Amino acid sequence: MTSPVLWSAQAHMPSVIGRQIKVVSADGAYLTTDTGARLLDGTASLWYANIGHGREEMAQVAYEQMKTLEAYHVFGRYTNDRAIELSEKLQSIAPIDDAKVILNSGGSDSIDVALKLARRYWNHVGRADKTIIISREHSYHGLHAYGTSVAGLDFNREGYGTDSLVDGTERVEKHDAGAFAAAIERIGADKIAAYIAEPVMGTGGVHPPQPGYFQEIQRLCHENDILFIADEVITGFGRTGVMFASTRYQLQPDIVTFAKGVTSGYAALGGILVAPRVWWPFFENGTGSPTYRHGTTYSGHPVTAALALKNLEILERERLVARSAALEQVLAAELKTLETHDLVKATRVGGFLGGIELSDEVNAEFVTDKMIEQGFITRPLRGNSIQISPPFILTDQELRDLVGAISTVLDSLKTGAT
Ligand code: PLP
Repeated sequence: MTSPVLWSAQAHMPSVIGRQIKVVSADGAYLTTDTGARLLDGTASLWYANIGHGREEMAQVAYEQMKTLEAYHVFGRYTNDRAIELSEKLQSIAPIDDAKVILNSGGSDSIDVALKLARRYWNHVGRADKTIIISREHSYHGLHAYGTSVAGLDFNREGYGTDSLVDGTERVEKHDAGAFAAAIERIGADKIAAYIAEPVMGTGGVHPPQPGYFQEIQRLCHENDILFIADEVITGFGRTGVMFASTRYQLQPDIVTFAKGVTSGYAALGGILVAPRVWWPFFENGTGSPTYRHGTTYSGHPVTAALALKNLEILERERLVARSAALEQVLAAELKTLETHDLVKATRVGGFLGGIELSDEVNAEFVTDKMIEQGFITRPLRGNSIQISPPFILTDQELRDLVGAISTVLDSLKTGAT
């Protein structure tokens, strides 16, 4: 077997060689592989293909924008119409009043931008000791150095010679506001810059918040002058049945990170929404106003911005956020029936986002392999769980078929038929 040149993301290469799935095209909720297999995309790729694949009008928008202005940076005095329009659009739907918008190229970028900004803010307002970032066990915040450092998935932090690539990170138990209070007590509020959490924990196994949990966290943040950052990279743009999960769970974040669903993956775009408290000192007209020295080459890229605008227009025009809310109900009902299965330990739903935790007798990776043979893409997550997060354009029947296929695969494992 020849060794592939492309080093796949997050892959143990010896295990994937010879088993790779080459996707050649995609339309709607389906993919086609080089073997001619047609697979239902039960995870919307990596939680992002919300409007579905292969939309002609998205291709058209990119083409039209490229003819006018394919790219120009937004450093310093430079700006462009599409980046401005997108920022204004995002401001109008943000779960923060009067938010400012920083654009970049993806979710991990957004985490870096948000966490650096939190520290830069405290430094500027004369509280330079506030540098520590608190996050949660089992959380995922991308794989750049800051995201790797704050994330609560130990295996992503192994092998770099230190526990944390960036200094000053602490993790607390995921549903335990008391653990956060204890961390504040131990570390000292005067040293803590921000608390970051996914409203619905995704990669950690799909964990919606416990009732009252975030309210207590927010009270503690407020009391102790700690910035609250909602990582909405997965949950943003309709995944929980409203534009932002912050609205659904009554969060008042100082910063929101986003990516994925902002373009449904038609272009690599991420960014952050910033509350007035944080942006105000940087916009103040005076010599004391600092520069936030962050930016990447493709910040405000006009083609990605044009695609985001069209994606948001499609979400609204086709009422796909309401559709996501309706599909959540179907998913919840279907997963409930799966709970009675001997090989299922628990199921969880938080938006149109489901996790199925399997019993120790079966392996989630094996089950997701079997699901591909049945024509469905699902994905193993931490904690022997399976991810379900399809595009919002799925029919009720397709969703039932997807969950039904899991049941069939588990049945076959129980009877030893595979
Ligand atoms: N934050 C969360 C909650 C995510 O789920 C992800 C990716 O899955 C990221 C950040 C990182 O995003 P990206 O992979 O676009 O860098």
